[in-house]
Amino acid sequence: MTQVGFFIDVTKCIGCKTCVISCKDKNDLEVGRNFRRVYSFETGEFPNPRLAHLSISCNHCDKPKCMENCPTTAIYKRKEDGVVLIDHDKCVGCKYCEWNCPYEAPQYSEELGRMTKCDTCIDLRENGEEPVCVTSCPMRAIEFGPIDELRKKHGTNSDIWGLPSSTITKPNLVIKK
Ligand code: SF4
Ligand code: SF4
Repeated sequence: MTQVGFFIDVTKCIGCKTCVISCKDKNDLEVGRNFRRVYSFETGEFPNPRLAHLSISCNHCDKPKCMENCPTTAIYKRKEDGVVLIDHDKCVGCKYCEWNCPYEAPQYSEELGRMTKCDTCIDLRENGEEPVCVTSCPMRAIEFGPIDELRKKHGTNSDIWGLPSSTITKPNLVIKK
């Protein structure tokens, strides 16, 4: 299996949320349901304060708490690339996965009565394209691909102020901060 993941360059992100909007548009998400979100936070100290932004979605973790705690085994990790998906025939919309995910990635759909989340734009990838958050970012702050390659290129950090420790779910995420 070639596990895939995301690289987020916080030093490039300007917090414009184009990634959030393109994801909402592609997945036809109503107000309040966001597969990708951008958090803004202050770092540094006077006289060198800094406003930083972190774009984040599901991290298709190696230890997915969402999957471990799903009472109907609706959540599974796809064999070929480790993408974490929800089987809507099994999901009963109980929201346990939302409560258990430290990244708040699963999002409840009122219309479907099921949980929904980032699937890494599987349909686009099958046509040789990249996830829409990657291609829409004007700052090229998001990369997607085999996590081993992203780690070789950008290092292994997946922790940043404001996020839970990466030891909890072992996210397939690399952050440059
Ligand atoms: S589109 Fe790029 S620059 Fe804009 S918020 Fe998203 S990651 Fe940051
Ligand atoms: S980020 Fe959350 S929803 Fe995604 S695989 Fe990890 S624990 Fe599950």
